[in-house]
Amino acid sequence: MFFYGDSIAAVSNFTRILFLVGLTLTSPRINGMFAEAAENEKWPIGVIARFDDHGTGLPLDKAMETGVSVIQLKVPVAANRTEENAQKILETLEKHGVTLTCVVSGFAGESYKTIPSVRETVGLVSETTRRDRFEDFKSVSDFAKRLGAPSVQFHLGFVPEDTESREYKDIVRITRDACDHVFENGQWLNLETGQETGGSLLQFIKDVNRLNLHVNFDPANMILYGCGEPNEALRLVGRFVRSTHCKDALWSKNPGREWGEEVLFGTGDVNAERFLQTLRSVGYDGPLIIERENKESPEKQYEDILQTIEFLKRLRTRVLE
Ligand code: MG
Repeated sequence: MFFYGDSIAAVSNFTRILFLVGLTLTSPRINGMFAEAAENEKWPIGVIARFDDHGTGLPLDKAMETGVSVIQLKVPVAANRTEENAQKILETLEKHGVTLTCVVSGFAGESYKTIPSVRETVGLVSETTRRDRFEDFKSVSDFAKRLGAPSVQFHLGFVPEDTESREYKDIVRITRDACDHVFENGQWLNLETGQETGGSLLQFIKDVNRLNLHVNFDPANMILYGCGEPNEALRLVGRFVRSTHCKDALWSKNPGREWGEEVLFGTGDVNAERFLQTLRSVGYDGPLIIERENKESPEKQYEDILQTIEFLKRLRTRVLE
């Protein structure tokens, strides 16, 4: 039995198995290239883009100017998830020969200012906002389907550590529901890492028990949140990783209580070369998505991203030789 979900009918299970067999057979293509644009590029380099003001990625047109072959797209706000806007996005991608690998969700009311505010406000952990946010998440997945994106992604939030607690079981259940909804749209779900250790994440994935649940591995988040050495965590969860964020950070003096400091990829404690070597050793075959924010200076953000693209091209060549 592939799924243990108590509410999943046998017919639905059969459909799922067909889907997953298809996904498995095509996964090297999906992971390695996503579409023609990145066909000959192993580990295609990409950036995070946004269509409206929602999110901290590059504006879509600016992202196209970087010359990358793949992007993740921060989902527009609900009012902008229209057919007309979907067509605009698709036309832009087609014009530039860029492939959309993933639509990134995010919820109103989230605050990343401090670790405690993340604990309180991010993801689907809070019972107060969970149901409304889940409805929004379904709309994100539906919009991603219009764009032909194979996956959607979010920060789930701080998962309770006690795996026997009601709170933990509730999070497992809502994640199953999320997986089942995106499954109906032909997608897989990426959890973005960082707010838990590699071991906890591995346990959580096993407990959710859905074959379309995967990981967007963000090594800097492990450091920023004080959740353990990222390359060791990557070895643990490597077989579930379908996407990565190339982001870097320095450890804080009080890991887990105060933020570490985000820095340019290749200059922090992630150890970029070791990170790519670890990706190679776990058989990773997906995109390298650069994540670099700078709300104060869009010009500097763009400059940093261009610099990181060149850095990653050189590093990728060296590691894959
Ligand atoms: Mg990230």
